[in-house]
Amino acid sequence: MKTLTCVAEMQAAAAGTRALGRRIGFVPTMGALHEGHLSLVRASRQRADLTVASVFVNPTQFAPGEDYRGYPRDLGEDSALLAREGVDILFAPTVEEIYPPDFQTYVTVERLSQPLCGRFRPGHFRGVATVVLKLINIVSPDVAFIGRKDAQQSVVIQRLVRDLNLPIEVVVCPIVREPDGLAMSSRNAYLNDEERRAALVLYRSLRRAQELLLGGERRAQVILDEMQALVAAEPLARPDYIEAVDAATLAPLERIAGRALIALAVWIGGARLIDNLLVEVGGNQLTLEL
Ligand code: AMP
Repeated sequence: MKTLTCVAEMQAAAAGTRALGRRIGFVPTMGALHEGHLSLVRASRQRADLTVASVFVNPTQFAPGEDYRGYPRDLGEDSALLAREGVDILFAPTVEEIYPPDFQTYVTVERLSQPLCGRFRPGHFRGVATVVLKLINIVSPDVAFIGRKDAQQSVVIQRLVRDLNLPIEVVVCPIVREPDGLAMSSRNAYLNDEERRAALVLYRSLRRAQELLLGGERRAQVILDEMQALVAAEPLARPDYIEAVDAATLAPLERIAGRALIALAVWIGGARLIDNLLVEVGGNQLTLEL
């Protein structure tokens, strides 16, 4: 595995690869890698000729007062994991390389950035869209792999790619969970033992939603009230939101229909955790992806 830190070097490596007619797969990350990230790498290895993974803790997607400084960083360990998975190029630029002092151009996916996490993390999706567009311009992948764990982020990135005619395919991969159901996240490292147990309330509440849906319930409020009650019963949990939205527009739903997301963001101690359930209702058919 080659590790590159300069934009120009990465662009040259990508141009060389493309000139040979080889397909580039790209996995953008903020590091502190876990099996969720590695599942994206494996998907890329299957579908592309050359896999590039980036590790960059993007300052512009953290609001003031968020965990930018304390975000877990371990490039040595990340690099070992990526090499073991057969990644060809690790792109790990410095902040100055991505945001030189005179940087002033941002991109905003307007409406999709507003609801859900957007209400609680001002500027977050502007930072995400901007860095993803920059990374795509630098890596020039044929296909990018992202996780459904960050469901709103995946919708924002897909919209960005279509709206700006980026010539790439975006593949959204399933959520990878711990054996007990907790969605893997770099931020799980913030949890102590007691908080780690409490964090299961996100998964438990989504399982309850799943049960209700399987029992035929389609009223969003009934489902959300039950989830809310479960979260409220966990003393260490403080919810930002628990919502049911259309999976494409992120507009709130009264009844679960079509492709819907039941999504929640909950603080457990100092960790803000998110999780979601993807629901597809088509006639009598119900598909649930947790
Ligand atoms: P992050 O490093 O948290 O910015 O995440 C980088 C990529 O990994 C994003 O596309 C995430 O959606 C994805 N990802 C993070 N956690 C998981 C998970 N548990 N399962 C699948 N994908 C994930």
